[in-house]
Parts: sequence; structure tokens; C-alpha cells
Amino acid sequence: MIIRKLFRFENAHIARDCLTKRCALSIHGHSYRVEVLLEANALDRAGMVMDFSRLKEIVGWFIDSFDHSIAINSHDESAYVEAMKAYSYRWVLLPVNPSAEQFARVILWVAIAAFGAAKAANGEGAIAVKSVIVHETETGYAEAYPADITNAQMGELLPSSFQFSVGVRADWGDPARFEKLFANDQ
Ligand SMILES: [Zn+2]
Repeated sequence: MIIRKLFRFENAHIARDCLTKRCALSIHGHSYRVEVLLEANALDRAGMVMDFSRLKEIVGWFIDSFDHSIAINSHDESAYVEAMKAYSYRWVLLPVNPSAEQFARVILWVAIAAFGAAKAANGEGAIAVKSVIVHETETGYAEAYPADITNAQMGELLPSSFQFSVGVRADWGDPARFEKLFANDQ
């Protein structure tokens, strides 16, 4: 049995090295839609894989980090990185280019950690995050699978390689939520 929940965020970025100048050289934004797909072979007491509201609690905070924020590749020019940090209340620094593919990888990576840490609340079965789909436009999306997370060619994802602005952390409830999630991996 598979369930899917849809999330949305509005984000700005520059996707360096893409083929068009509009994409590679100009700050621009997209209205992203994110699908989180969970798989289980058992249902909880309510006959659900997991209550959608609980699913949202577990991973929604991280996806919301990107809403009305700017996603910055830490490998970008330092002057650009510092300017974006200085002039935006909400920003996320990533160790990879903020493409739809990398958003899907990063969200899947965090989702797997977050669902792995979540305790059963209503007799849920073993839940696996099957994939994360990120739609960057109406016509294009990327879907990441667990094997993509550790694919070195796609770039290493380490918790210490991410930075979040104070404005992003302020909406997590606990400003150290990301670090606590990966505390055992550091
Ligand atoms: Zn773009």
C-alpha cells in the first residue's frame, strides 16, 4: 500500500551550469510541488498507512524550510553566497546545485531520517519512504529513490554541509531540529 502527500513551496535560486542563461545566470523562482510517497504492508488502527496530518508533522517542517527562501549552492561564488545570506531572512545553503533532482534527493534523505526516528502513534506498520517527487514546473519533475541518496556521483549529502538561516530555523519549533535528527550520524 502506498500513500502520497503533496506539499508546496515557493523558492528562488540560480541553477549554475544549466544550458540556458536564464537558468544559470539569473536569480529566479519556481512554485514547487513535492510528493512524498510512503509504503507500508500494514495499516494502523484507523485503517491508514499513516494519518496525513502526522505525515505532515514529520516532514513538512523541512520542506517548508524552502518556502519563500533562497536555495544557495555552497560551491557558488563566495560574493554571491554572502550577498544572498545578507539580504534574505530565509535562506538554505546546500552542498549541491538546487535543481529539482537535488531537491528530491535532499528531501528524501531528510524524510527517511525523520520517518525512521518517528515512533508509531496509532499502531502503524513498518513505513518506508518509497520516493520523493519534486515538480519544478507544470511539465517537469524529478523523482528520487533511496539508492540516489548515497550515489557519490550525485554529490555527498552530509548534515554538516547544510546551513539554515535564523529565519528558517525560527519556524521549526525547535531551531536545532535538523541537527538533532542527524545527531547520531555526526
Ligand atoms: Zn530554476
